[in-house]
Amino acid sequence: MSSLQEKHWHHLPHDDVVSQLDTDPHTGLDSDSVDNRQQQYGPNALTQRKGQGPLIRFLLQFHQALVYILLAAVIIKLLLGAWIDASVIFGVIFLNSIIGFLQESKALNALDALSRAMVTETTVLRNGEKQRIDARSLVPGDVVLLASGDKVPADLRLLQSRSLQIDESALTGESVPVEKHIGELGTDTSLADRVNMAYSSSLVTYGTGMGVVTSIGDHTEIGRISELIASAEVLATPLTRKIAHFSQLLLYAILGLAAITFLIGLWHGDPWIDLFMAAVALSVAMIPEGLPAVLTITLALGVARMAKRRAIIRRLPAVETLGSTTVICSDKTGTLTRNEMTVQRLWAGGEDYDVSGIGYAPEGDIRQSGQPVMLKDNIALNELLKAGWLCNDSSLKHDEEGWKIQGDPTEGALLVSARKAEIDDAKSLDAQPRLDTIPFESQHQYMATLHGGEKPSIYMKGSAESILARCDQVMNADGTRKPLDVDAVEAQVKAIASQGQRVLAFACMEAAADKQGIEHEDLTQGLTFLGLQGMIDPPREEAVQAVRSCHVAGIRVKMITGDHALTAATIAGEIGLDQTIAKGATPKVLTGRELKSLSDEQLSHEVADTAVFARVTPEQKLRLVEALQARGEVAAMTGDGVNDAPALRRANIGVAMGITGTEVSKEAADMVLTDDNFATIEAAVEEGRGVFDNLIKFITWILPTNAGQGLVIIAAIIFAQPLPVLPLQALWINMTTAVLLGLTLAFEPREPGIMTRPPRTPGAPILSSEMIFRVIFVGLLLLIGSFGLFELALYQGASEAEARTIAVNVFAVGQSFYLLNCRSLRLSMFNLGLMSNPWIWVGIAAMMIAQLLFTYVPLMNTLFHTAPIGLLDWFYIILVGLAIYLIIGVEKTIRTRRESARSNRVQGTTEAAN
Ligand code: ADP
Ligand code: MG
Repeated sequence: MSSLQEKHWHHLPHDDVVSQLDTDPHTGLDSDSVDNRQQQYGPNALTQRKGQGPLIRFLLQFHQALVYILLAAVIIKLLLGAWIDASVIFGVIFLNSIIGFLQESKALNALDALSRAMVTETTVLRNGEKQRIDARSLVPGDVVLLASGDKVPADLRLLQSRSLQIDESALTGESVPVEKHIGELGTDTSLADRVNMAYSSSLVTYGTGMGVVTSIGDHTEIGRISELIASAEVLATPLTRKIAHFSQLLLYAILGLAAITFLIGLWHGDPWIDLFMAAVALSVAMIPEGLPAVLTITLALGVARMAKRRAIIRRLPAVETLGSTTVICSDKTGTLTRNEMTVQRLWAGGEDYDVSGIGYAPEGDIRQSGQPVMLKDNIALNELLKAGWLCNDSSLKHDEEGWKIQGDPTEGALLVSARKAEIDDAKSLDAQPRLDTIPFESQHQYMATLHGGEKPSIYMKGSAESILARCDQVMNADGTRKPLDVDAVEAQVKAIASQGQRVLAFACMEAAADKQGIEHEDLTQGLTFLGLQGMIDPPREEAVQAVRSCHVAGIRVKMITGDHALTAATIAGEIGLDQTIAKGATPKVLTGRELKSLSDEQLSHEVADTAVFARVTPEQKLRLVEALQARGEVAAMTGDGVNDAPALRRANIGVAMGITGTEVSKEAADMVLTDDNFATIEAAVEEGRGVFDNLIKFITWILPTNAGQGLVIIAAIIFAQPLPVLPLQALWINMTTAVLLGLTLAFEPREPGIMTRPPRTPGAPILSSEMIFRVIFVGLLLLIGSFGLFELALYQGASEAEARTIAVNVFAVGQSFYLLNCRSLRLSMFNLGLMSNPWIWVGIAAMMIAQLLFTYVPLMNTLFHTAPIGLLDWFYIILVGLAIYLIIGVEKTIRTRRESARSNRVQGTTEAAN
């Protein structure tokens, strides 16, 4: 067992594979050998290979235009012999890089932790029992069962394949799934052609199979090439890319401006060294160096907050997109409903029955008009319940917490109804061992099992449509058969479905004695219809709430389900899914069949005012997403099966189910719900809006302060005045304010009323014209304040050092006050609650301490060319800050009034249109 890697597993006969791996394909490994092998081989996980090592990431912090400008300044200062200045600038650059590095690492770690939190589950056979386990605990020799939707958890030699198809594109680049067979292959068969192997990380798209683990972790094929596809964690989103582009343009503008200033100075006849320093000061003052780091951190904090609310973000751009979501397409079963099924209605042999009791406890009985019934009086009923028991892959368990089901709740409910009728203890069940299965898949809408014994037979269950199409007879209460009256059955189906119940139909067929397996082709006709079981699945309380919040937030919700149109419509009515009709009224439904007959154009028209889509196949989900997107909608779409993957990938936000979802769907999704709950999508949208708000708040805070500093320097040069802010001082003020003040905005909680406004228009510019006006306006206020006080101080006979200290403090104080304005784009700080973000005050206090040190500590005076200032100076400085706060407060009120007047007008017109 020591040299597992060198083996040509694809070349060995089954018996050799099994004996060399010392395992048993019928029972799997026992607990002891699993323990031993875990000790020996370690976990089945790839060693994390970071995209870039910490050193490279640290050095990359220096790769910024600002740093290059500053390095040039360092060199010039050194040439001039001003080594203190040179080393201070260098020190600040270094410190800045460390802070940037730490911030980025924190963001990366947060994202990393999330990606690790996503475990791959796999089904193994151990101690003779099927178990669902975390794939990390697999060892060589483990027997793994694969089913469509699974991610292959390790390299496997396949011993069984039932139409198994695997997408190996991650490994070979070949996007067409490979059909798997189990025969031996030649030693020199290339990887892509080893059809009797299944490789880690590839995805099962069809069928089922069984294989033995041959290698795990880094020894798998994907582990060997993963150096090439190192986990390149990208911290980029459309917004950060836009900002990066904007920063680039800004940089050119600033450099141009610096050059012009330089020329103006030369024309004035100033010495070029001073002018160079002025140009450097201008660049340092105007480049918003804190911007990228704070954006990343805000996004990372958003991801962490969403994770706390049970939404795991798999792709960072989703955080932003969530904020502009206009429509959510949700599954019904399990997402809008609780997925706690209870059979309440039976129909067999022409008779109607009720089942009492609720939940998975098999307590209750089968009644007709209030009287318990005897099963032997209705053979069809007996067969119906037996079919539900036999044609079933779930199991019913009892433990301290009560009755539980393992597997699909729809099937669990059938076990419970059979137990209530005491079908299960009939010995006859043992006499009908299962020989083969066709598992349930949404696109076929049925499941079938083949049973041996004295009278070999096939049992089948599924949607009424799929079963009825295959039956020509129906079983009577006395066990005889008569020709099937499809209309009568359909009337029953409608009666049950219109109560919001999920309807399953059942059928059986005799099988040839020598039959060992079944295929879809065996089941196209000749079955005998047994009856119907109707089960309730109540809506989730939270989902009803969440749907309502979505409506208020201008987000429409659509139900997309494989269930019957009437069931879907009734549940949708109970939830109040369609806001255009009264709650409880039944909304309009479009079925998959109708959908098929529509052209893309017709569909994009229909999709707008239809809230419920029933009997929809996964392929049609893709068409729905595309139709919505063609209308300019930003669509979130949920999904759980293999075939949902294309729709999830295509949707603006693909949402997968953490509990019931297949690995394939999770892989394709942007977001995974750890509780499968619709309310979690709404929570994520809310967080997404909050994150976007915080990004905008930060941008509207940082840009004017940069503009203000730049304007001060330009003004000084135009009016041939001494520089109010030296390069080093500009550097100081930018670094300290970005970290101490700006960053605190990332912790601003969601604003009240965040879910009462319409979604952000996708593609709208980051800053509205009003915000651009604000940037310029605040910039001018800062210019007037600092330049004014600087000149005043000089006029009153202060030294240049004192005057500059005043000018710099105007920025520190002005930015602190303006920070309070920026806590919300619409509300005042008093509406928000003064302490709702305590970090703001911590930041401002820290900023003030930093400024006191900057102003009064002799060492700082030497390093930064500052000087202590008087109490009266502080009075003026604070007056400027207060003035900014009040003026912007007024501006905000006026703007918000105008905005709400405008939206009222818009609402008025749409209401008139309705
Ligand atoms: P949903 O979108 O509600 O999850 P599905 O595609 O899972 O819809 O189910 C569609 C229909 O298939 C159901 O209405 C039911 O009649 C039938 N069905 C669901 N689960 C099973 C199952 N495990 N076995 C057989 N039939 C099923
Ligand atoms: Mg389902």
